[in-house]
Amino acid sequence: MLVIGLTGLIGSGKTTVANLFAQLGAKIIDTDVIAHQLTAKNGAALALISAEFGQDILDSSGELNRARLRELVFSDELQRERLEQLLHPLIFAAVQQEMLAVNNASYIMLVVPLLFRSPKYLALTQRNIFVDCDYPQLVQRLAVRSNLTQVQIDAILAQQVSRVEQLALADDIIENNGETQSLTAAVKCLHQKYLLLR
Ligand code: ATP
Repeated sequence: MLVIGLTGLIGSGKTTVANLFAQLGAKIIDTDVIAHQLTAKNGAALALISAEFGQDILDSSGELNRARLRELVFSDELQRERLEQLLHPLIFAAVQQEMLAVNNASYIMLVVPLLFRSPKYLALTQRNIFVDCDYPQLVQRLAVRSNLTQVQIDAILAQQVSRVEQLALADDIIENNGETQSLTAAVKCLHQKYLLLR
């Protein structure tokens, strides 16, 4: 089955775009959603995370204290590597499992934030989309959605693959600076192209 990669900077509109492709018949497999499921209360990764980082990483109800974990790994590269070494193989295994279970879709779309730094995922995809969004628009949308300040957004962006590099590496680019209407039209256009590529 045709597999399309979808990536973009934080808040660029990956989820919004993926939802539009899903409405047209694509099967979406989103690594962020999988990571969230794995770290939910009964998720396969939670016990491993608490064994690695200590019980303090859980709150009083036994759920992952996401703010604490984010704080721990954001400023410390070694801690981030520890978390990634633990989570990434589990996420990749879950992606493979989900891909095997797909039987009724036009094609598969893999949503991977660091796609262009992830050879294992690039080996699965035949084409890759970059969702592009101007910096001021991105800052505005993230301020509304996540209450993030410009300084926080800049710190996150500094850890991502640069926009320039992603624009150069992508096969298809979806510009997401305008209204949902123009975004929907761009998605429909690419969808037609992918139907022909199958
Ligand atoms: P993250 O990297 O955090 O997972 P993302 O790339 O998946 O984010 P979205 O969650 O799709 O991005 O979009 C970020 C925010 O911008 C959301 O609040 C979304 O509703 C809004 N948004 C995205 N595209 C548009 C658009 N074309 N018009 C208006 N709002 C939009």
